[in-house]
Amino acid sequence: MFINHFKSKLEFSYFSTEIESSLMRLIDKVSDGIIILDNNWNILYLNQVFEKIFDQKRKDIIGKNLWLLMPQLVGKKLYRESSIVQKNHKKRHFEFYSDVFHKWFNTTISFSKDKLIIYLKDIDKQKKVELETKNYIIFLKSIIEQMPVGVVVVQAPKGNIILKNKELEKIFRTPVKDISRLEEYKTWEGYRVKNNQQYKPNEWPLARSLLRGEIVKGEEIKIIRKDGSVSYVRIRSSPIKNDEGQVVAGVAIDNEVTEIKEIERKKDEFISMASHELKTPVTTIKIFSQILKKSLASSDYKNAPTYVRKMSDQIVKLEKLVNNLLDVSRIQSKDLKLNKRYFSLNKLVKEVGDTIKITDAFHKIIISNIDKIIVYGDKDRIGEVLINLLNNAIKYSPSVPEIRIYIQKINKMAVVNVEDSGIGIEKEHQGKIFQRLYRVYDKKDKTFPGLGVGLFISFEIIRLHKGTLTVESEPGAGSIFTFTLPLIRKNSSHIK
Ligand code: ADP
Repeated sequence: MFINHFKSKLEFSYFSTEIESSLMRLIDKVSDGIIILDNNWNILYLNQVFEKIFDQKRKDIIGKNLWLLMPQLVGKKLYRESSIVQKNHKKRHFEFYSDVFHKWFNTTISFSKDKLIIYLKDIDKQKKVELETKNYIIFLKSIIEQMPVGVVVVQAPKGNIILKNKELEKIFRTPVKDISRLEEYKTWEGYRVKNNQQYKPNEWPLARSLLRGEIVKGEEIKIIRKDGSVSYVRIRSSPIKNDEGQVVAGVAIDNEVTEIKEIERKKDEFISMASHELKTPVTTIKIFSQILKKSLASSDYKNAPTYVRKMSDQIVKLEKLVNNLLDVSRIQSKDLKLNKRYFSLNKLVKEVGDTIKITDAFHKIIISNIDKIIVYGDKDRIGEVLINLLNNAIKYSPSVPEIRIYIQKINKMAVVNVEDSGIGIEKEHQGKIFQRLYRVYDKKDKTFPGLGVGLFISFEIIRLHKGTLTVESEPGAGSIFTFTLPLIRKNSSHIK
């Protein structure tokens, strides 16, 4: 506007002394630099600000060629832009950083009646603040992006998203654009973990911070995601207020605690199963010891050996349980040691099969010795793996009697398959059953006892032998557990 105003005045009487002097006085008062050049780049006029920018007195430079006076500007942005305006007479407006004056300028160059008018506004301070703010925001965004928790900052009053990170999308498995407004909460399903009460849209932590200025220190929420999966999130939220104390924004930190919840659930389940597993033998021992006491008191020795055997069976069970628990803690502390030697895998499988036959009359264990195999390993530990796999095959196939074992050599590995035709395992659990305390929890199958440590221990034993333990299974059709052991050649005289 300023330029236009002067442009029109200059057009009709630039050289009128009266107007010239009043114009000069006026232009001198302007806080921005103005310079007027003729067609040959000679300086016709410049104001005080330009005097300062050039660090030269007006009287010394008026009439001189600008580019000869300031050769360091030739070829630079101001020079290039001025040349364009002089050629096409079209006004140009731009911001630039001058490495000659070491400053940012906002510039307008216009052409009028053979004269070029350059208007230069020093915007260095504001530009530096702007750039610093921009850099600061980029820096802040990259920190927020790296954070291992979901972060979202929303603006009052509607809750439009200002800042958010990828972790948030991961937690909700929803693109953040779909959770960009508080109204979106209407479509969300979330429950307070402490009382299982469903959240109404304006009860979510961030909504409360935004609408009522509430600071939410940490609320555990069970979220049913749009894809139906469940996640547990601990949300903290807080309002952001301006100097007048009005809420202008809200920030929420979402911490996914699904895994922690799952571990807690598994531990609770383990404690209840372990107490149950321990209680049964202890109660049995207690009952038989009381019966035995009475029998002995009345000198009735007839059934005493039976009672003692029953008690001893239960003690063996207890010992097994305690050993399993000790093994789990040994594995955790990487303290499970192997006592390796050469032994016949076929003989070991037969021994284990025979022992199991004694305790289970219903199931039939059919062993196929396809190859005769000598392995180098811890015989007792491999025996434990076989017992675990066979006991599971029996436990999880209560109505189908046949269990098959195949022993063969494949690619320099001993391969043992334990096959049952029992309840099988759903695909989603197959990769997880080797984890510590993992049990398939199905209301229908709830009756199967167990602690969820057998396969974990077996997997670790086989892994320590540099072998593998895997499963193939079809729900309702049965399971095949396969373990492999590397074959190491040795003279047969060393075999035990
Ligand atoms: P558990 O003491 O629960 O049997 P395991 O570690 O031996 O613990 O097995 C883990 C889970 O794997 C079991 O809870 C069960 O759901 C599943 N599983 C193991 N073996 C079989 C099998 N042969 N058939 C079906 N499911 C099995």
